[in-house]
Amino acid sequence: MYFNPVEAMERSALEELQVDRLKDTLENAKNAPFYGTRLAGFNPADIQTVADITKLPFTTKDDLRSQYPYGLLTRPLDEFVRLHASSGTTGTPTAIFYTQKDLDSWADLMARCMYACGCRKSDVLQNMSGYGLFTGGLGIHYGSERLGMLTIPAGAGNTKRQIKLIRDFNVSILHIIPSFALYFAQKVQEEGFDPKDMPWRIALIGAEPHTEEVRQKIETMLNIKAYNSYGLSEMNGPGVAFECIHQNGMHVWEDAYIVEIINPETGDYVPEGEIGELVLTNLTREGMPIIRYRTRDLTRFIPGQCACGRTHRRIDRITGRADDMMILKGVNIYPMQIEQCLMTIPEVGQNYLIELVREGVSDQMTVKVEIKEEYFVEDMRILQGLQKKIAKNLCNEILLTPRVELCQHGSIPKTEGKAVRVIDRRDKD
Ligand code: ADP
Ligand code: ZN
Repeated sequence: MYFNPVEAMERSALEELQVDRLKDTLENAKNAPFYGTRLAGFNPADIQTVADITKLPFTTKDDLRSQYPYGLLTRPLDEFVRLHASSGTTGTPTAIFYTQKDLDSWADLMARCMYACGCRKSDVLQNMSGYGLFTGGLGIHYGSERLGMLTIPAGAGNTKRQIKLIRDFNVSILHIIPSFALYFAQKVQEEGFDPKDMPWRIALIGAEPHTEEVRQKIETMLNIKAYNSYGLSEMNGPGVAFECIHQNGMHVWEDAYIVEIINPETGDYVPEGEIGELVLTNLTREGMPIIRYRTRDLTRFIPGQCACGRTHRRIDRITGRADDMMILKGVNIYPMQIEQCLMTIPEVGQNYLIELVREGVSDQMTVKVEIKEEYFVEDMRILQGLQKKIAKNLCNEILLTPRVELCQHGSIPKTEGKAVRVIDRRDKD
């Protein structure tokens, strides 16, 4: 039923395990130049319960950057076997190092994730995310092999070849970034394939924020079950949290991570169930443990127990990064609010782009929206009506009326990696 019995461990035993591992992690972390200084006055024996973690300072992305490249390593460089880097979606990348043991435990966690949403040894997985420094490539790859699946390292892009591999080798599991999945789904239809005839049954989707509406769109268009996958390079990569078959939040593997949700302004815990910033601590990483890492990702705990029997707590889908927030005319707006609204409008296609410009003293938002081919008609009145409808729906959601530009399907550029949803030209104008 579980890949590893630890997944259903009693909470009290799980918390004891966390305390033991946290102490060991702190001892070990002190060997790194950064934590050697940062934790100099701290005695790991002062950790008696998981809650004692609040006695420790946070680690931020800026800390990692200031320690680039070796400041967080607990041992000599020749004990490391792999390097990854965050994709640099927000600024300078950070380098992440792994020992062989770290790679092994990461692969175990990944295999556990895939098992939880129904992947089995007999499945064939096609990894359609980019390889290279991005952890979604090799991370998923080794996890898939650990589970025993036949693994096809297809990489991103080249839809025709992807479809051929899928059909030739009876691929049942896809790993695909959600924005690419929407594009891919469209291409599958254009190539004249009926998704019902395809061998796939499960898509592992993650690596970028996406709404429930997008998940449903992927599921319908591809005739597949899509499970949300969360992780970040600083915490290994994917495999931090994953949905089980119930698709109701992602279990965070608490034997490997301590998970906290804080108010980003005060650093205090938010009340259970409220949205805040996710903070993660490694418990099983020997080469480069990171303590109380402020992910800047926003989410909340899902209260209650999961029907699957796993005891590890669940977090809700990430609503965005704290730094994704746009402030426009004094209103705080997240790209996911816009996505959620757009994706409920039947005429809207697969892609959109938000552009911000400064005009005189005021800021303007333009939302470019791809429209499904069948709705992209020549009658201006119909198109203007649609434009107004979209602007009005958006206004109901974000409380100001953006300009809406209707675009032909496929006309908004699609990158192979994570989607760029917002272009902010305000500083440059
Ligand atoms: P970068 O920060 O450069 O994108 P990573 O490749 O390490 O580097 O990406 C990790 C980040 O990607 C996370 O902090 C989060 O913002 C985002 N992310 C990963 N998985 C998901 C997911 N399932 N849902 C939403 N966002 C995700
Ligand atoms: Zn579950």
